[in-house]
Amino acid sequence: MSVRVRFAPSPTGTLHVGSARTALFNWLFARHHQGTFILRIEDTDQKRSNPAFLTDITESLAFLGITPDEGPYFQSRRLPLYQRAAAQLLEQGKAVQQDGAVMFPVAPQRVTFTDLLHGPITVDTSLFESLVLMKSDGLPTYNFACVVDDADMAITHIIRGDDHIANTPKQLVLYQALGFQPPQFAHIPLIVGADRARLSKRQGATSVAEYREVGYLPEAFVNYLALLGWSPGGNRELIPPEELVHAFDLSRVRKTAAQFDQQKLDWLNSQYLKRASLERLTALCGERLKAKGLLANGVDRAWLSRIAHLLQDRLKTLQDLEEEHTFFFVDPPAYQPDAVEQFLRRPGVADNLLALKERLAALPSFEAAAVERAARELIAERKLDSKALIHPARVAVTGRAVSPPLFEVMSILGKTKVVDRLEHAATQLARS
Ligand code: GLU
Repeated sequence: MSVRVRFAPSPTGTLHVGSARTALFNWLFARHHQGTFILRIEDTDQKRSNPAFLTDITESLAFLGITPDEGPYFQSRRLPLYQRAAAQLLEQGKAVQQDGAVMFPVAPQRVTFTDLLHGPITVDTSLFESLVLMKSDGLPTYNFACVVDDADMAITHIIRGDDHIANTPKQLVLYQALGFQPPQFAHIPLIVGADRARLSKRQGATSVAEYREVGYLPEAFVNYLALLGWSPGGNRELIPPEELVHAFDLSRVRKTAAQFDQQKLDWLNSQYLKRASLERLTALCGERLKAKGLLANGVDRAWLSRIAHLLQDRLKTLQDLEEEHTFFFVDPPAYQPDAVEQFLRRPGVADNLLALKERLAALPSFEAAAVERAARELIAERKLDSKALIHPARVAVTGRAVSPPLFEVMSILGKTKVVDRLEHAATQLARS
């Protein structure tokens, strides 16, 4: 029997990291077994459902490359199916009508199922007395619609969060009543923050869209999500999506909560940025800078590609571009007060910067090597500690105490800007 799995989000919020991981595990499981991954939108709670959340969910899944083979199906468009199933149970005397709702009295019994992760689980159904199937507004409850749909869609495996483990016995009695064969279940553990509490806004970003906005690459985020509660064995961590499909195995999903580890995510992202082609990285930088209003239309692609190349091994996320490297795009650069204080407000600095300016202004070529040679000559002639020139020059040109290699930066910025910035720093910012 071929594998059929589903991801069934309710459009009552943005796509949370935990839900994205559930979607990913289903998708990987389907791909691994050449099965079918179905997207089902559980939108019968009309008060809480919102089209903006649906858009967020769809776009976030598309960003991650978690694309459905079937669907999206919308529960709100499948009401006749639930009504028919309720009518059948009423007819058979298994359900009763009560104040306009359809209720299912649960016969006390012990229900056992074998969770693929947790093993056998037995629950005494006398705990739940009776279940609401259809509410008085004519809409089905989650448990009822879920069972009718999972049966109708011939779902073979339900992979979902631990938080649904208490629903499973309720759903199993409904499978029994409707005469359906239940699927297999795997309840995957929660994701918790560094404080071991359920991942929430308190610990930072929780939705995929926020991570996308920060500038994580989709394959890095997918790789990271896959490792939240699963590992292929050994110490392997850098596993691109195609290899995840090959390696994914439900039996290697851990039973205990998975801790969100921002540093590992950042590390993975920097690894994928390093491995990206220069062409792709240049395009990503260009899009991002344009979106942030830092890049004019029609900017020279070759110039942007020099910046991308210089930053390729230095970026953790694309956000670092506009947080640490705006000096490439903004004139004058934003001067960090601390850096100005520490490196420019010193005796002799203004004079040294002006001398450097004169030498650089006279250079026929502005290649990094030529710029460096001119600076080193000045350092030698003036018997300076090289830091005594390079640190202030860095602040003058980038506004910052830390930057990528200064002579590369200068070469990319070009003579005019570098000369202007050295002059500005010497005359306006430094103390003579
Ligand atoms: N709509 C439910 C949720 O988002 C689906 C749970 C399930 O997978 O059965 O939690």
